[in-house]
Amino acid sequence: LSVWSTVPAGPPDPILGVTEAFKADKDPRKINLGVGAYRDENGKPYVLNAVKKAEETLAKQNPDKEYLPITGLPEFTASAAKLAYGADSVPLKEGRVAVTQSISGTGALRIGGAFLGRFYPHVKTIYLPVPSWGNHTPIFRDSGLEVKGYRYFDKKTVGLDFEGLKEDLRAAPEKAIVLLHACAHNPTGVDPTPEQWKEISDIIKEKQLFPFFDMAYQGFASGNTTRDAFAVRYFVEQGHQVAVSQSFAKNMGLYGERVGAFSLVTSSPEERARVDSQLKIVIRPMYSNPPLHGARIASTILRDEQLYGLWESEVKHMADRIIQMRDRLYDNLVSQNTPGEWNHIKKQIGMFSFTGLTQPQTKALAEKAHIYMTADGRISMAGLNGKNIDYFSESVSKAVK
Ligand code: PMP
Repeated sequence: LSVWSTVPAGPPDPILGVTEAFKADKDPRKINLGVGAYRDENGKPYVLNAVKKAEETLAKQNPDKEYLPITGLPEFTASAAKLAYGADSVPLKEGRVAVTQSISGTGALRIGGAFLGRFYPHVKTIYLPVPSWGNHTPIFRDSGLEVKGYRYFDKKTVGLDFEGLKEDLRAAPEKAIVLLHACAHNPTGVDPTPEQWKEISDIIKEKQLFPFFDMAYQGFASGNTTRDAFAVRYFVEQGHQVAVSQSFAKNMGLYGERVGAFSLVTSSPEERARVDSQLKIVIRPMYSNPPLHGARIASTILRDEQLYGLWESEVKHMADRIIQMRDRLYDNLVSQNTPGEWNHIKKQIGMFSFTGLTQPQTKALAEKAHIYMTADGRISMAGLNGKNIDYFSESVSKAVK
């Protein structure tokens, strides 16, 4: 008998399952709106010019392949923190932000979860928005935190359930941990307004909750990295000791390079040094030290004025293309007299849109129109382009009628 004969088969990943069904479909009109990766005007993966140029620069420098320190490339972590907190951030200038490189955003969340699991001195319960990115629950559960939810999305308005959110945060135990999507909420595409962020900050302060920001899409929401960092920077200004997870998968298109950072605001450089030492002890047995290449690319872009400018313009281009697709989809659905209210398509922010399509409708779209999305009706707007948007709109219109 095999040692593993009693291992039960686990359920397939809901998002990767969509890609498999898409790959098996031979129809030339097929569209994959499941995956959360940017696609260009021709539906192709996009390597940023800033990335290509940074790689050329790096190749000329003929760098070695030695190990990085446990917390990563120092130039990279310094630039990543500057991008998140802002160049004039007070805690950053005072040397009291602990930062480590991470295996993209997922790794940052996992380090953060493990650090909080070990050292957070209060109730080790993390509240996630409902719904949230599907991987949040297993990441924090596996980190040893208890996972609970707070209301976020209102199906009726296809918008933010702000009253529900406030009620649930007020009802949470004092000092609990709250996960916030810094911008471009996945999967709903619904973000609080700056005014709403201010109210959320007040409640978090009142209840002494601990804010943990997941910033996986800085720049992707508005096309501007500063604007998209509003919530994080506002919270820091208000004196919150935040935790921040960053990913360069989307905004630099470095998906497979796994470039990210995890940071914590502490009260002094001395405290930061203690936290740093423990971050190393958390990371060392997990993967020893992070990969080099992607961090070099990101740090080259972030530290060179010209490349930085090019990168900013490319982030804006990606965000603008997505916004354009939202406008066209909305216009098409309305001009085709599609039953229902479609304003949310234009109002939602970032890579994803929660269309409001029901499970039978998404099933019909896959079977009849070769259009694939997650069963909750979430579409990646980046999968739409000038060539497939009309076919997509017509198909949605038919599925709803
Ligand atoms: N957080 C959110 C909200 C995400 O959508 C993603 C990517 N889908 C991540 C974190 C992490 O992605 P990565 O590990 O590729 O950076």
